[in-house]
Amino acid sequence: MLGLMQNWPLTVDKILDHAKAWHGETEIVTRSVEGPIVRTTYAQVHERAKRMSNALKGLGVKPGDRVATLAWNTARHIEAWYAIMGIGAVCHTLNPRLFPDQLCYIVNHAEDQIIFTDLTFLPVLAEHRAKLTSVKHIVVLTDEAHMDAAAAIPGALCFETLVVQNSADCEWGGFDENTAAGLCYTSGTTGNPKGVLYSHRSNFLHTLVTLNADVMALRAQDVVLPVVPMFHANAWGIAFSAPAVGAKLVMPGPKLDGASVHELLESEGVTFSAAVPTVWQMLLTHLRDTGGKLSTLKRVVIGGSAVPESIVRAFKGDYGVEVTHAWGMTETSPLGTQATPNAAIAAMPAEEQIRYRLKQGRAPLGIEMKLTDDAGARLPHDGTTFGRLKVKGPFVVREYFKGEGGEILDSEGFFDTGDVATIDEHGFMQITDRAKDVIKSGGEWISSIEIENLAVGHPKAAIAAVIGAAHPKWDERPVLLVKLKDGETATKQEFLDFLEGKIAKWWTPDDVVFVDDIPLGATGKIDKKLIRERMKDYVLPTAEKAKERA
Ligand code: ADP
Repeated sequence: MLGLMQNWPLTVDKILDHAKAWHGETEIVTRSVEGPIVRTTYAQVHERAKRMSNALKGLGVKPGDRVATLAWNTARHIEAWYAIMGIGAVCHTLNPRLFPDQLCYIVNHAEDQIIFTDLTFLPVLAEHRAKLTSVKHIVVLTDEAHMDAAAAIPGALCFETLVVQNSADCEWGGFDENTAAGLCYTSGTTGNPKGVLYSHRSNFLHTLVTLNADVMALRAQDVVLPVVPMFHANAWGIAFSAPAVGAKLVMPGPKLDGASVHELLESEGVTFSAAVPTVWQMLLTHLRDTGGKLSTLKRVVIGGSAVPESIVRAFKGDYGVEVTHAWGMTETSPLGTQATPNAAIAAMPAEEQIRYRLKQGRAPLGIEMKLTDDAGARLPHDGTTFGRLKVKGPFVVREYFKGEGGEILDSEGFFDTGDVATIDEHGFMQITDRAKDVIKSGGEWISSIEIENLAVGHPKAAIAAVIGAAHPKWDERPVLLVKLKDGETATKQEFLDFLEGKIAKWWTPDDVVFVDDIPLGATGKIDKKLIRERMKDYVLPTAEKAKERA
């Protein structure tokens, strides 16, 4: 027997309809790519997005066509998203931090018809335009006054002109909620980038889950600054969740440095923000250097890579800001877990709670999670056994776009995240490594991430990375790479002493190497693949000794 409730397809256009109807005057403030701060409202964004939908139809976009965006977080970018998704086309977010060759590969693989771009990216598009074979139009997210910058791209269209030229009379939605809405490629740390194709339904459900009080808990009275880019795993859903509750949005545009972010946090009265740890590190450094305050900020969500303890302590201790650590990936829309205390943890003394707040946390409703060994057998949730982390749920990938990578679910329908983790008795998951970065020493696993996070807490360290280096007896041993803060000098022993007692003896790095640069990948994470390449001729001093003895 079927239920007798209404069928109301879960399509994301309804989110902006809702924001317009009930929060129409709520502001969206942008630090524009052209420079000035610009203000608009949900009602205006709704109308302009509808006009842009008509413009897209006029340019020949049909349901299912892919339309790309290569853009910073701005109100225009939001208008482009809803314009595309509202008419059943697929919004493909391109990550401008990718190498041009990767970008071209992705655009061609997705067969993007149109690219919306910011002024910033015109040079790279002009240079590679000829290789983008499916692209019929490039729309520049600017006004006529700035279109000179697009001279190198013949036929480039101006966003503001299209808005003026088209009517706002456009029907949105009316299709199956399983219709594709968005496309985002993983950065391809192994093999070619693979596309994750979100549906309206998966985005809608993800929005509801992130609004949970134990997740992002946004409210109409919040002022939300997503530093995390819309091109990186959908700004963790904030371009949906903020309008869904009618929260004011503050969009940082191209400027993500500490001073610029701080200025917006203060001038717009931001209460909630979300970003990867490196962004927060920059903000905290700026605050320390300038004696700046955080007078309105209450909560930040940090994810994308593990949050160092020093950040959690600084936010809470120095500025009274609550940090929630979250984990997820492009393939999980992206939210997977968040480390919000349950009743038992909340009852612990603050110092004891920190241990849990630094874990990646527990699954909200909508995420099933398990640990397995390499053969797929389930492992215990005892907080110490490491295993492959696998997830399942209505906003987790089932298959990559165009079947790339083949069958990706196990026999129980779980997706292998490529992460290695533990799960404790409170259900708190902790990432110990990526499967390909874990250091295998004498048949046991060493977590590179855990050592990195401790090492970066050394007052002289700017950033630290740990990789495995070949060892004749142990297979691999950890090497710690450290980039020191400007003007600092240090000895290897200082770092080894700093780690002593914080990790098991056999986890202690066999060597400490001071480097000028630790490369970050396109999503702001330490690029271990590149580090391993740079270190390919490196020989561990302990490996040499072991060989001499043999
Ligand atoms: P990319 O592989 O392109 O960086 P994602 O942004 O989807 O793509 O990254 C997902 C991965 O980032 C996860 O599988 C995990 O390894 C890592 N990650 C995300 N959040 C955290 C976190 N809070 N702590 C540790 N690692 C994290």
